[in-house]
Amino acid sequence: MTMLVMKFGGASLGTSAGLSQVLNVIADESANWEQLLVVVSALDGVTDMLLDAAHFARIDHPRGYRRIAANLRTRHLALIDQLPLDRPDRNTLQANIDQLISSLLDDCKLIAKNLNEELSPRHSDTVVAVGERLSALIIAALLRQNDIRAVAVDGTDVLITDDVHGNANPEIAATAQRVNAVVLPLLQRNMIPVVTGFIGATSGGATTTLGRGGTDYTASVISALLGAGELWVWADVDGMLSADPRRQRNARVIPRLSYSEAADLAYFGARILHARMIAPLAEAGLPLRIKNIFHPKRAGTLVAGKSGDRQPDIKAVTSIQGLSLRRPVSGSLAGVTRLVGNTLFKTLGMRSEVLIASQSSNSSFICLVIPTSIGIDGVDRLQRALEAKMAEYPEKMPWEIETVSLVTAVGGRLHRSPELLSRVLASLDGIELGGIALGASNCSVTVALAEEDSREALARIHDMIVKSGSNSA
Ligand code: ASP
Ligand code: MG
Repeated sequence: MTMLVMKFGGASLGTSAGLSQVLNVIADESANWEQLLVVVSALDGVTDMLLDAAHFARIDHPRGYRRIAANLRTRHLALIDQLPLDRPDRNTLQANIDQLISSLLDDCKLIAKNLNEELSPRHSDTVVAVGERLSALIIAALLRQNDIRAVAVDGTDVLITDDVHGNANPEIAATAQRVNAVVLPLLQRNMIPVVTGFIGATSGGATTTLGRGGTDYTASVISALLGAGELWVWADVDGMLSADPRRQRNARVIPRLSYSEAADLAYFGARILHARMIAPLAEAGLPLRIKNIFHPKRAGTLVAGKSGDRQPDIKAVTSIQGLSLRRPVSGSLAGVTRLVGNTLFKTLGMRSEVLIASQSSNSSFICLVIPTSIGIDGVDRLQRALEAKMAEYPEKMPWEIETVSLVTAVGGRLHRSPELLSRVLASLDGIELGGIALGASNCSVTVALAEEDSREALARIHDMIVKSGSNSA
């Protein structure tokens, strides 16, 4: 076989037990594939800590960001203390970690000096990038110590993106050039590049990030550009599940998903994958596997192909936050959708489609999805920005803006099975629905409802999935 790309997330990397699994998996697969490339996230929780550090810097609170820097240093040093490293390697690694921590402090000081009202994502991007750099250095050193030729590669040298800081998109042609110049020579020399996920740079050299969970996206773009045979995403669960296992204890592994099903699952809230990572794989026809790092022999989930030739079925249910806008008059929606689109882009650097737009004789309703990649406070920030923007136009009939839950059932060929759709809706009997949308990809149906009803709605749809016995391989 040719080339395998493997992505390891924070949960696999955070403990020495996880790291030894990572090492085993890489050692095993390097015997099975001609070439191997690894993409890593920051350790669990590190990106959140770095964002907090940036916020402390923004309010000029040096004690706050220094404390975080010190914690991060201790945590990474404690981790390498537990690894079987030679003294010279350990010393070099420690020096490199110290260097990254001091660059973090410099970046925080810079933010504090340029105090402005909101923390700009441009500044926080330089701060959060440290997390992935720390983990790539550690993994590469661990591999080398175990006689596996590996070298840490900084994503900012490889992934060229637009300048949407905090939620950037790769520029494919420029990235392809960098992949050929920086990554390919390493592979040709039989080295394993350990690439930092999540981070990139504009063509002018400013550090960017691809949105929360963006390491998946780095891995998918690089896999597609290198023409890899497969991409494996290692997680701490057995694969893509029929529901969030923290909410539904009886959630089960989905053995197989089409690209569109996986993309809809991620788009509508399954945090295990970054929503934009599927498109490059689908285009290249590159299979994706999601596997459990603590049980590497288990099959996991395979994402490949179309769902076209199978019976319609429901495989999974997810939920995500959204915003709804409502007003008690009918009329053109063009103005408000433009206003929402512009505010969304200005606040979160995001272009998102309105998911549901509906009108009747005396009212209008629109509803949009807020992707998980923009982080937890995105919904609040957008709601505040929209309210402020609308207050500038008091002559227009005000829109009532509310957060809503969007619960989505995902499965193949739903548009061909009104009967199946009606069973999903029937399962929600008694719950008040704000809107319904059949996904344009034909493999999802979404209902908008009050947040307090989402748990119940999700549980009922999940019950239906479990009883129907779908997902049995
Ligand atoms: N470390 C980044 C985050 O926490 C990227 C990733 O985990 O994929 O969002
Ligand atoms: Mg993730």
